[in-house]
Amino acid sequence: MGFKYLPVNLGCRLNQSELTEMEQAFKAAGGFLDKASPDIVVVNTCGVTGKAEKESRQTLRRLARLYPKARIIAWGCAADKWLREGRSDWREWGIDAVYGNENKTGHPLLFMKMIKAEKGKTPAAAGFYTKRPRRFIKIQTGCNKYCSFCLIPYVRHLSKSRPVEEVVEQVKRAEKDGVKEVILTGVDIADYGRNSPAPLKGWKEASINTLGRLLEEILNKTNIPRIRLGSINPVSFSDEFIKLFKENKRLMPHFHISLQSGSDAVLKRMNRRYTRADFLEIIKKLKKVPDVLISTDIIVGFPGETEDEFKETVEFAKQVKFSRLHVFAYSERPGIVAEKMGWKNVAKEERKRRSMVLRRVGEDLMKFWTDKYRGKKVSVLWERFRGGWLIGWSHNYLPVKQKGSKSRVGMIEEVVYKPEG
Ligand code: SF4
Repeated sequence: MGFKYLPVNLGCRLNQSELTEMEQAFKAAGGFLDKASPDIVVVNTCGVTGKAEKESRQTLRRLARLYPKARIIAWGCAADKWLREGRSDWREWGIDAVYGNENKTGHPLLFMKMIKAEKGKTPAAAGFYTKRPRRFIKIQTGCNKYCSFCLIPYVRHLSKSRPVEEVVEQVKRAEKDGVKEVILTGVDIADYGRNSPAPLKGWKEASINTLGRLLEEILNKTNIPRIRLGSINPVSFSDEFIKLFKENKRLMPHFHISLQSGSDAVLKRMNRRYTRADFLEIIKKLKKVPDVLISTDIIVGFPGETEDEFKETVEFAKQVKFSRLHVFAYSERPGIVAEKMGWKNVAKEERKRRSMVLRRVGEDLMKFWTDKYRGKKVSVLWERFRGGWLIGWSHNYLPVKQKGSKSRVGMIEEVVYKPEG
């Protein structure tokens, strides 16, 4: 008799990719997805902000009430933090076990041992994966950079990369499951291939070619139609790396590069170790890739951020002409360096105002690019069907929608771009 499981993702794409692989292990051991009465519920928690950690706790409590007979597992970043803090009150929340991020790949086996799963019986619920034509593939975890606003190095630990063969194996498996696009994800994928314990001196010196070599392996050893990079830190992209993107249509011409601030003074306080000028250099190089679009993450209201520094960020975002801005208002996080530096906090209301201002800039930039592509041909992977509309992303990550039939979900098509569909 197989076992019934329910995976719950709270957080980033890396979390999602880890859950996908847990499901592969569960299915291989005879497990199948069951939202009605699972034997085991695994929540991959998030601890990136105080709010995310609170949501993780609330979700776990709710699931423990919803599934009183199931084993409830807390996994991931918030769980890792609770373990490091030596907390045990999670037992009162109805949780059966807490697992952090160390040795994460081996945890699914431990979870199964908890419910004594039998090996080898695959139930009829096959084909779960074909519903999603895109899949996140974990290539790296951990981070050595210690930005002053971030807790991740403390909960995901030092940067570690996955062997090339394992990544290629995961991509082949995705292809077999009918996936058309893989997104290579991690905490600091620019650090791929280098398990260097010491934090890097300057990001500009970082060599990106190890990631380039991984891409080459995937291009040569699989036929996956679309390969996309997940969020990446600003690094010096080598000529070889750019050449690879220029010459391979299977590599999607879109980069999500975390800027975080457009003010050198704020970047310094964030310990980001690159300047506006460095970032512009990087953008100039990336723009050699045909059809490339670049999106980013920006934190507003970082401690000590003056109105002028904020204006610098707004101007810089316009200057770079990002295709998309993910804007985050700074949130206090006990234990992070920024909270210990005595910098004057920006009032919450003011953080909100700055987020709104920058989000509006983001909308204008997005409109600039969608208008620019109006009437042009783009390649789209249809991912979902809703209310008579096909929905997907273009090769360079523009949102695409078109009237059509559900049967085209999972197909890659060339379409004439109309922002409104
Ligand atoms: S690079 Fe900075 S922001 Fe990103 S995970 Fe590492 S420490 Fe956090």
